[in-house]
Amino acid sequence: MLQETAKAAWEYGRKFLMQGKVADYIPELGKANPVYLGLCIKTPDGKTIEYGDVEERFSMQSISKVVALATALQHLGFDTVFSHVMMEPSGDAFNSILKLDTASNRPFNPMINAGAIEIVNLLAPTFKFEQLLDFTRAICMDDDITLNEAVYHSEYNTGDRNRAIGYLLKSKEVLEGDVLQTVDLYFKLCSMNVTARSLAGLGLILANGGVDPRNGVRLLSAQTVRTVKTLMLTCGCYDGSGEFAVRVGLPAKSGVGGGIMSCVEGQMGIGTYGPALDEKGNSIGGKNTLEYFSRAMHLHIFDSERE
Ligand code: GLU
Repeated sequence: MLQETAKAAWEYGRKFLMQGKVADYIPELGKANPVYLGLCIKTPDGKTIEYGDVEERFSMQSISKVVALATALQHLGFDTVFSHVMMEPSGDAFNSILKLDTASNRPFNPMINAGAIEIVNLLAPTFKFEQLLDFTRAICMDDDITLNEAVYHSEYNTGDRNRAIGYLLKSKEVLEGDVLQTVDLYFKLCSMNVTARSLAGLGLILANGGVDPRNGVRLLSAQTVRTVKTLMLTCGCYDGSGEFAVRVGLPAKSGVGGGIMSCVEGQMGIGTYGPALDEKGNSIGGKNTLEYFSRAMHLHIFDSERE
């Protein structure tokens, strides 16, 4: 049942690819092939179900905001983190500066650029990129994650909007220290090269309450996982998060590289890769694959008809 539904969902998702567009505001991302679509599902008992382009590597982009937030919650604690960022959906685009300058000094949430840059600023005095990369490998169950140098350089060369966000935060005395170093670390985290499989691995750790089901090792506390999943549900798909929650009803985080990482409580981690994006920046193939899959399997968190 799981296998057939996953295949049908992937086939359904493929139908939408031509309606999407690959991101090119970071020039290197523009080289991705819009016809790719991969779906990987991992379950706690060690099963992996996958279709399509699951071995293709692509940059994690905004999905790294989950790693940064989880690390900050683990090491700095809930109160410190949320004294620097809020937990509200912004309703604006991921890279918007609007509300930051008009409505609040603190960024609206850790899933948009301003919030993530603030979180990275909190991590920067303690963590080197290599340590965060190692932790990403562990929570994605993928030792082969590396820095995608081409994407990193491309983002570095075109990332002035993110630098502007950093300077605005500094001018409001929300961000401390060196803006350029903070944003550089943020660019590197966005440029970690994953696959749909690695995203399914991260989803599985979150679905499993922070414990790696292969060996029982706890990588994240239960409270960290609960907070991260809630913010994924409310803010994980940019200004498309509300519609995604209604249609799919699962916590998810998307990235402009084409990935979506999602999870089903206690049951599975799901990773999709499809670089053709909708107008909000969410993978159009991934989003539709997840909608079909969630509906067919009754996985929506508020679905009363369980399988
Ligand atoms: N590195 C991207 C940026 O900051 C991340 C955006 C995203 O995936 O939403 O513009």
